[in-house]
Amino acid sequence: MNLIDTIDRKLDAIAAQSLTRRLRVADSPCAPRQVVDGREMLGFCSNDYLGLASHPQVIAALQEGAARYGAGSGASHLVSGHSRAHALLEERFGEWLSPYIEKARALYLCTGYMANLAVLTALGADADTMIFSEALNHASLIDGARLAKAGVSVYPHGDVAALERQLSASTAAMKIVVTDSVFSMDGNLAPLPQLLALCERHGAWLVVDDAHGFGVLGESGRGALEHFGLSSPHLVYIGTLGKAAGVGGAFIAAHASVIELLVQRARPYIYTTAAPPALAHALQASLDIIGGPEGVQRRAHLAALVGHLQDALRPRRWQLLASTTAIQPLVIGSVDAALRVAAGLHEQGLWVPAIRPPTVAAGTARLRITLCAAHTHEEVAQLARALNQLESEPERSIA
Ligand SMILES: *Cc1c(COP(=O)(O)O)cnc(C)c1O
Repeated sequence: MNLIDTIDRKLDAIAAQSLTRRLRVADSPCAPRQVVDGREMLGFCSNDYLGLASHPQVIAALQEGAARYGAGSGASHLVSGHSRAHALLEERFGEWLSPYIEKARALYLCTGYMANLAVLTALGADADTMIFSEALNHASLIDGARLAKAGVSVYPHGDVAALERQLSASTAAMKIVVTDSVFSMDGNLAPLPQLLALCERHGAWLVVDDAHGFGVLGESGRGALEHFGLSSPHLVYIGTLGKAAGVGGAFIAAHASVIELLVQRARPYIYTTAAPPALAHALQASLDIIGGPEGVQRRAHLAALVGHLQDALRPRRWQLLASTTAIQPLVIGSVDAALRVAAGLHEQGLWVPAIRPPTVAAGTARLRITLCAAHTHEEVAQLARALNQLESEPERSIA
């Protein structure tokens, strides 16, 4: 049998379920108005929640970082790639999270995906450890748990009582509860205060992936722990930096001993070239904005846009999920219907991604609307008008 044919048959099977994904090429910086495949579109799809990806101060800091530190790091952190830029950024993250994590220290990694693999494989390195993983966790946490030597037990979405039963029944030597703080396809928050209380009662670690919270949650943008006012030496916090921070990479903040174990043992930290130091330098500018008056302003504008969308959208058959965050999912139902609505928006120059299984459960295909501080009220109104109009045309089909 032809090797290529076997691959093509897999691709045909994906296409037969309308699940083929297509890359779109952006010809302009990440911003609400973007040239995509040669056409200007108004997008509601990026996770650049504060609009920092194309912020002049962040771009200038990236340029300055490249001038000062060069283009690449040249090696992994433990060999020779750990630059002053990385060290200063890690120090700052350690300070930022120190009100919430006792003896906090931070580590900067190339991506959030790798940070999650690092935490779960290093903390979950032993077979007598158990990872308790929330059902709607991000793929990178699922993969991290799969790669760990620890056992894995999945608890139902948001179900603290079910988790408590699992923790009580477990005889594992070490227990790790792991959850997204903001669920990426639903926009709702995990019940972190209850989860932390449960973890403290059962002597478990609480690992929080704050990919969609860092920069946007909390008075000063420090994320979910600030938002809920949580504090414990047993929190392991992951903030990703390609979303609200507008650059890239991720940091892990935890008790200094946990971080030292990661430095010694976490393969996604050890066996990869350190991120370009210029990124770490640019992130200092992002943090200046996030933690300063402009960050407060941007978060307030974002919250106002969320309120505006919720007021203006009048779904009858569709369902806008209960979310107070910048992620506002509109559940359409079938894959074909969701694709039809996305195509209808696209015709009008509006870009909203349709999210299909397996990313979300079958029958809950949705438009994942994300709002950003760089959007205007008029742009949100335009999206709401288009969606209200499309919903009132049930027999519409893709041309
Ligand atoms: C995006 C995301 C990640 C991965 O972060 P990257 O820096 O993009 O690799 C991890 N967890 C969640 C919940 C995410 O949404």
